[in-house]
Amino acid sequence: METHVFIAINGDKFAIFIPTVFYFMRFDIITLFPEEFLRALSFGVVGRAIARGDIQVQCYNPRDFTNDAYKRVDERVYGGGPGMVMLLEPLKSAVAALRAADPTLAPLTLLSPQGQTFNQAQARIMSLRPRIILLCGRYEGIDQRFIDSYVDEELSIGDYVLSGGELGALVVVDAVTRLLPGVLNKAASAEQDSFENGLLDCPHYTRPEKALEGDVPDVLKGGNHAEIARWRRMQSLGQTWLKRPDLLAKLTLSKVDLKLLAEFKSSLKTSQFSE
Ligand code: SAM
Repeated sequence: METHVFIAINGDKFAIFIPTVFYFMRFDIITLFPEEFLRALSFGVVGRAIARGDIQVQCYNPRDFTNDAYKRVDERVYGGGPGMVMLLEPLKSAVAALRAADPTLAPLTLLSPQGQTFNQAQARIMSLRPRIILLCGRYEGIDQRFIDSYVDEELSIGDYVLSGGELGALVVVDAVTRLLPGVLNKAASAEQDSFENGLLDCPHYTRPEKALEGDVPDVLKGGNHAEIARWRRMQSLGQTWLKRPDLLAKLTLSKVDLKLLAEFKSSLKTSQFSE
């Protein structure tokens, strides 16, 4: 299937056919360290997605939106105490500039240890948006009046405190980009990744077939796709049971899955017994 768009050149109309696999997502990042940010996105899956035009990443530096000669973006905290706080005005101007550059209504997401914890389900939801705006805090954080007036949602990447939101924003850009249609090739499909179906991924092997550390499981070399799928499902269930029982507890397993898990557990007992 494809959609088509008409364009006019010198009064002549042309139809451009756009396959539905075509996808484009824009990330706008407000950061005091744009160069480092863009450099960190320049390789691997995300680097290729940028080069192909699947995604576009645009950085806005609040320092470029200051009015004073020293380009101040932070000030001391009211009430006393250590640390500096990011100023309201440069952030307001940066947001106004990025909204003017692309008026698409998109929520402004602040990376913050106080936000909702980012996970695969959240990445899926965000991957359906055409545009994502991420604000990276620094210092002690951001003037609360900016948060109250302009921030739509707060996102944390875990229960620890980072020095800035940039690492969190990189996590979001990476996790969302790999979910966009056409970004991963079929072999590396995100659908098989951990968390996609509530389970952890199965183990993976590559050459050599035999090594001092062990052999590649026979089932993976036999070419029987049904058997391979069964083995992978069993391993996914087993690895989740071993490493993340909390994830397994949230699922209602089918009879087939319960049987596979029982088989995994007994294979563990057998291998312990044979050692
Ligand atoms: N005083 C803040 C607090 O305790 O809530 C922490 C400020 S932190 C040093 C500076 C910035 O790093 C934050 O404004 C936020 O943008 C970012 N940051 C820190 N930890 C984060 C986390 N776990 N997830 C997302 N962003 C985080």
